[in-house]
Amino acid sequence: MNIDILTLFPEMFESPFGHSIIKRAVANNLVNIGLHNIREYSKSKQRSVDDYPFGGGAGMVMQIEPIDLCISALKEKNVYDEIIYLSPDGELFDQKMANQLSTKQNIMFLCGHYKGVDERVRQHLITREVSIGNYVLTGGELATAVIVDAIVRLIPGAIGDEQSALSDSFQDDLISPPVYTRPAEYKGWKVPDVLLSGHQAKIEEWRHEQSVLRTKQKRPGLFRDANE
Ligand code: SAM
Repeated sequence: MNIDILTLFPEMFESPFGHSIIKRAVANNLVNIGLHNIREYSKSKQRSVDDYPFGGGAGMVMQIEPIDLCISALKEKNVYDEIIYLSPDGELFDQKMANQLSTKQNIMFLCGHYKGVDERVRQHLITREVSIGNYVLTGGELATAVIVDAIVRLIPGAIGDEQSALSDSFQDDLISPPVYTRPAEYKGWKVPDVLLSGHQAKIEEWRHEQSVLRTKQKRPGLFRDANE
């Protein structure tokens, strides 16, 4: 998979992509992540990338030209399955979208900043708008890091025990069951007997029951949707 990220702050990705599963996936060539500084595509002497909004009002707006030039340069090298603009009012990101995006070959993410991008970017240059929640972040970088993390861990081979990603919450519209590890008793708080029984069929049955119970309690909407 190839992921290209357009941003004004490439250094913001150093830590999220510099550890654990994503770092290993990059090292093992399961994913290539390209960081592209939009400022490098500015034609102005000061390398500016934003300007005052037409009609007045607070905040700056990211200009279309540097973004267009950056997207065009990348499109000469790759055919993109999706060009995603991160936006608080976009489609809400969830596990289904993560599963779907993890099967793509080439994805581009455009991170906004300030008041966002010139509307014509949204109208003409992108294929999809995605939000990570109904709140406003300073920029699209953290949102992109969240989405890339969720996608990359689903690429076959990214997680040692593949089953582990498939049994996470929201796969099959169920929340993950509780997990425990040693010691079997701590301060009098005991691990459920069934998990120590060694009876695999009973353990699986208990896990499924717990998943259903948790989903009904914590995400009743998810349970209803899955059973309609
Ligand atoms: N003026 C915009 C509005 O009210 O919708 C908010 C702009 S926000 C300060 C700057 C950038 O952060 C956005 O262009 C977007 O790329 C990103 N962003 C903010 N919140 C986000 C969210 N919940 N999901 C995805 N991206 C977000």
